[in-house]
Amino acid sequence: MSHATCTHRCLPAGSRPPVLRRNLMKTAATRAQEGPGTLPGAQLAVKLTAHDSDAVDELLQSVSTLVLDCDGVLWVGDALVPGTVAALQRFRQLGKRLLFLTNNSSKSRRLYRAKFESLDIAVAPEEIVPTSYTAAAYLQSRNFKKKVYLIGTDGVGEELAAAGIEHVNWDQLVGSPTGINGAAEMQREWTAASFGRLQLDQSIGAVVVGWDPNFSYSSMCCAAACLRELPGCEFVATNLDPADNMGNGRMMPGTGCIVRAVETAAGREAVNVGKGGSWLLPFLCEQYDILPSQACIIGDRLDTDIALGRQGGLQTVLPLSGVTTPAQLLEVESAQLPHYHLATDVFQDQHLHFQIVVLDRQLFIWIGTEPACLNNLCLATPTRMDSMPAATSLLGRDADDVTSMSQRLAKRVGKSVALSVNLPSNQPEMRAFAERRLMQELRQLELVQQAAGLSVGDPGGPVAAP
Ligand SMILES: [Mg+2]
Repeated sequence: MSHATCTHRCLPAGSRPPVLRRNLMKTAATRAQEGPGTLPGAQLAVKLTAHDSDAVDELLQSVSTLVLDCDGVLWVGDALVPGTVAALQRFRQLGKRLLFLTNNSSKSRRLYRAKFESLDIAVAPEEIVPTSYTAAAYLQSRNFKKKVYLIGTDGVGEELAAAGIEHVNWDQLVGSPTGINGAAEMQREWTAASFGRLQLDQSIGAVVVGWDPNFSYSSMCCAAACLRELPGCEFVATNLDPADNMGNGRMMPGTGCIVRAVETAAGREAVNVGKGGSWLLPFLCEQYDILPSQACIIGDRLDTDIALGRQGGLQTVLPLSGVTTPAQLLEVESAQLPHYHLATDVFQDQHLHFQIVVLDRQLFIWIGTEPACLNNLCLATPTRMDSMPAATSLLGRDADDVTSMSQRLAKRVGKSVALSVNLPSNQPEMRAFAERRLMQELRQLELVQQAAGLSVGDPGGPVAAP
């Protein structure tokens, strides 16, 4: 009995850069807009569909500056999106100016540069524009001379310091050696009385809110008091992103959650200095001498990256490698659509899992967006092996769809296939991609088996290359 198991988180090889690797496809609404009033990029999109690489070249030739989002584009969590380094190298070879523009405020430009370098991405410090930096730049543009009360990480603090702006956060108030501000007392026990005794630093002239994993109710109370009681106190948000993709299928509450809490407490709105706000693009154009008509933004969020590009007259490209799903793309208004989106094969970041068991001449396969259903599949099958037809759907809510997929697989590998599919039924593109990737997995498994002197397929029935 030969028995082999492979369990993978699916990350396609992607030897070509992400924005060049796959077909760029027109969105449905972009197609609908062809003709009079066509979007500037729509005619290009026609060519992109039919002549992939030539049309991508044409798109690249039409712009001199590429503004790249980071999370969900260059990397997801701490994992580099395959092809990123090669894509950036090509952009540089073509003489494009690159700006890495991220709403993430957790790091300063210096710390971001270290992250880029840890991922083997060569980058100049001035090419990195995180919102830790734009928050400081905004205050500089306001000729700000006072102190900042900061809800955020040291990354923002570092950028404020680089701009010559002093800051203080809740922990520092609590740890104040004099203790006269009342913060320590409030931290020990929050009561209406202790909050009432909190002494505000009258030199504070702005509250800046960024991502802060140590955000607390007491810190929010202090921020709200500053905003309500200190004359002329500025209120700055690094971004309003509601959530971020952690890369493991889980969404992390974003800075927007913290900003909305402070806004509610203070009874006023913050100025958003990140993507999604109105201040950022004019600043970028002036600071970096960008001509919007000669620039393209590549980002994974409709409400920030694509919104900034559409409002500012930039070309826009949406990779489906981050927070925006294909289903969401189909639902938005045409004015909110990107000029281009990267098509199906970016589904690697949906974290598809393949589990394949070779048991005698049977293949037991599980495909899904979650791992670890292998045991269920094994336990369910032994007594049915002899009577199992050539292709059988063991599980799956979409029986016809799964059965036809298993029949195609069985035909290509030349042996019985038991298939379990756990994929969204409303995403046919993802299913098609999963099937292609599964064939690649089977091909690799066959090569391993052959090297070990074993046989996966029947004689004369090798696994077909996808
Ligand atoms: Mg992003």
